[in-house]
Amino acid sequence: MPKTAPKETVLQGLPVSPGIGIGPVHVSARGFRAPEVYAISTADVADEQERFRQALEVTKGQLAELQQRIQAISGEGDSLIFEAHLMVLEDRALLDRVAEAISERLQNAEFAFYAVMQHFLEAMRRVPDLYLRERTADLEDVCQRVLRNFSADEDAPGEEQANGHHILVAYDLNPSDTAAMDRKQVMGFATEVGSVNSHTAILARSLGLPAIVGVEGAVLEVRTLTPAILDGYSGKLILNPTEETQARYQELQARKERVRLELEAQRDAATTTTDGRKITLSANIEFIDELALIQQSGAKGVGLYRTEFLLLDGEQMPGEHQQAEVYSRLAKSLAPHPIIIRTLDAGGDKLPVEPLTEPEPNPFLGWRGIRVSLDRPAMFKEQLRAILRASAHGKVAVMFPLVSGLGEVRRAKDFLREAMDELDRAGVPFDPKLETGVMIEVPSAAVIADLIAPEVDFFSIGTNDLIQYTVAVDRVNHHVADLYRPTHPAVIRLIRKTVEAAENAGIWTGVCGETAGDLRLTPLLLGLGVQELSVGPHQVPRISRAIRAANYAECVAMAEEAVRTPLSSVIMENTVGLAMKYYPELME
Ligand code: PEP
Ligand code: MG
Repeated sequence: MPKTAPKETVLQGLPVSPGIGIGPVHVSARGFRAPEVYAISTADVADEQERFRQALEVTKGQLAELQQRIQAISGEGDSLIFEAHLMVLEDRALLDRVAEAISERLQNAEFAFYAVMQHFLEAMRRVPDLYLRERTADLEDVCQRVLRNFSADEDAPGEEQANGHHILVAYDLNPSDTAAMDRKQVMGFATEVGSVNSHTAILARSLGLPAIVGVEGAVLEVRTLTPAILDGYSGKLILNPTEETQARYQELQARKERVRLELEAQRDAATTTTDGRKITLSANIEFIDELALIQQSGAKGVGLYRTEFLLLDGEQMPGEHQQAEVYSRLAKSLAPHPIIIRTLDAGGDKLPVEPLTEPEPNPFLGWRGIRVSLDRPAMFKEQLRAILRASAHGKVAVMFPLVSGLGEVRRAKDFLREAMDELDRAGVPFDPKLETGVMIEVPSAAVIADLIAPEVDFFSIGTNDLIQYTVAVDRVNHHVADLYRPTHPAVIRLIRKTVEAAENAGIWTGVCGETAGDLRLTPLLLGLGVQELSVGPHQVPRISRAIRAANYAECVAMAEEAVRTPLSSVIMENTVGLAMKYYPELME
């Protein structure tokens, strides 16, 4: 009997990186959601125990097959990992607890299994031993596999793979997953959790990968190989699109491509507003292989180099000479334009610089940013010397992250002076006038910006963190994403206060957080007096066009009003109003 075409289904998420991907889905095994829970009657207990037994048998069969396959390809060592997975499924204590949960709590088998596994996982996540903590990934993997096998039917073979181009669907992706993605294969991704300001989303924008987050139920509802369209503009994941939908998206893709080419042709135009205000437009960089992209984008240098991404290549920061090599290469390639190198910003939601002896109860308020560097003088000075070495090869500036008070700035500068003296004594050339800046991303630093300004050469406002700390809303928690408002009046006032303090001290202020690349906010940031915007390389051509289309005097009038406006929604409406007036073609 001929099969009827599967129905088109739209899953709605939050757009975090623009673009369109059309192709089959691949569902990633990492991370998963709780299965449905329902009560069973005592009469069903035996059936549920049997369902559990069968799911285990199917899983063991798959693992044994995988083990053999891997052994044939790469030898015994790699295949042992599946041996470990098999052992989990034979762990008596675990099996007994699941059986008990089914018969005593009268829960369906998949949920009983899931709950017991969560208990083990939670315990493992808390152990201080790094090796053991890392094994949680294996446990998660096995758990996911068993859960999938509860619902396996003949249409859903366990080892389906989407080869070639595909749209990745995952529960969550961390920055290293995103960085390690095979960009030739992955056309974009959709995750169940995540937020616009997570590092994963930032990376997706840097890499030009369409992405959406907050697609509830995606991992369990979507099957690998389902044809789909990922719409990074409106946040949709369209499964089994009809021909009509496909044609519509192909047209949209072509239209966006035309705008992109038009903007690219204007990439060397000066970023000056219609009434003559000059704005520096630079790019944010995480990986050295983004360099070519930055050079093509028309950016005037790098306004933020997130050096903590060097940690992805190994467990620790590379040594002084290795770092100096990377920094020098960037400085040389970008000259005469500047590169602002931010010292290590590890901890919090970012990569740790070293395993912690115990988990922090509140990592966002914990050991992160400049605090880590000041506590590890040898490591800090290695990085400062590497930055100084690079300053002999181009225009380099240094910037300190997560500063909360003046003392930190002074101590960081003392270390910088020590690093200079050390290089001087060793006869190593560097730029003694290298500019020093701080990120204004903790509200306390914004409030005392007038005290910090005389000590530095520039401010760069990190709105990602500034918003999160000002309104007490975790930037990566989708439950409170609605409260994460870049136009919150408190945030606007802090930005204005920072710019004013800088103006009084005769230094410049830039913005390197994600608001700098948000076309809705360009009129507002310009109007608040910001002189530099540093954005993801893919956003440079659009923001360049936005600056060139804006009228500075009008933006100032709107921003002055914003400082007195009580509601974030009204401030947003006003800045969007100007954006629509200046560059409607970019706002669709
Ligand atoms: C910021 O906080 O706005 C920022 C630019 O730094 P990061 O996103 O790396 O924390
Ligand atoms: Mg930050």
